Parts: sequence; C-alpha cells; structure tokens
Amino acid sequence: MIHFSVKSTERTQFIDITRDVAEALTGISAGRGYLFLSVPHTTCALTVNESYDPDVAADINAFLNRLIPEGYRFRHAEGNSDAHIKAALIGTSLLLPLEKGELLLGTWQGIFLCEFDGPRTRTVRAGTLL
Ligand code: ZN
Repeated sequence: MIHFSVKSTERTQFIDITRDVAEALTGISAGRGYLFLSVPHTTCALTVNESYDPDVAADINAFLNRLIPEGYRFRHAEGNSDAHIKAALIGTSLLLPLEKGELLLGTWQGIFLCEFDGPRTRTVRAGTLL
C-alpha cells in the first residue's frame, strides 16, 4: 500500500486525480488485477465519472451542495455535517480493474477526489489486489 497527497482549494470541489493514480500505480502495479483506492477521511470521497467535460463534475458538486446545504440545522457541533453526509453518499473507496499494469477506465472516465470540507490536504491510499 502506498499513499499520495491531494490539496483542495475550495470548500467543496471535485479534483481529477487520474494522473496521480496512474503515477502511483507505476510503483505498485504488477499486471492484471484490481487497484484499490481509499481515503482515510470522513468528509471527502472518491468517485469515477466523466473527466472530459469539467462541467459534469462541477454540476455534480453544485447539485450535491443544493441537495445537502451547509447551513441546514444539523446536530453535529463541528458544523460540517453536510460534508459527512456527502462523503457517506459517494463513498470513500474504489475498486478498479487493471490490465497489463494499467487502469481500465472508459474513454470519458476519470477518478475524482471529492472534497466536501476543504480546503485541506488529503491522503489517498492505493494498493493492488492481484
Ligand atoms: Zn465533523
């Protein structure tokens, strides 16, 4: 298992980490199997979606913010329950197929770290299952 850092610059933001993941993969990959990605956080998430048009990720982010507003009267005293809920909905890990040591993503797919309580520096852990 290796890890790398991702810095967010906004409170909520979808960051395309496909290249970071591909670089990390060169250090751990061994042919065919699966890549496991995980974030050890409770207010950010990982997802795969369209990376060709950045408006797609922007729309998802904006809609989640509308669906789960920061200002809602939640009980959690830290004031970031919206971030916890968004992370719970999207999920904190991914399992992706590998072939010849490379990710088998679709033409339009990219891997995103979904920041819901930034700006922060986040950790992404990566390992392979062969
Ligand atoms: Zn909290």
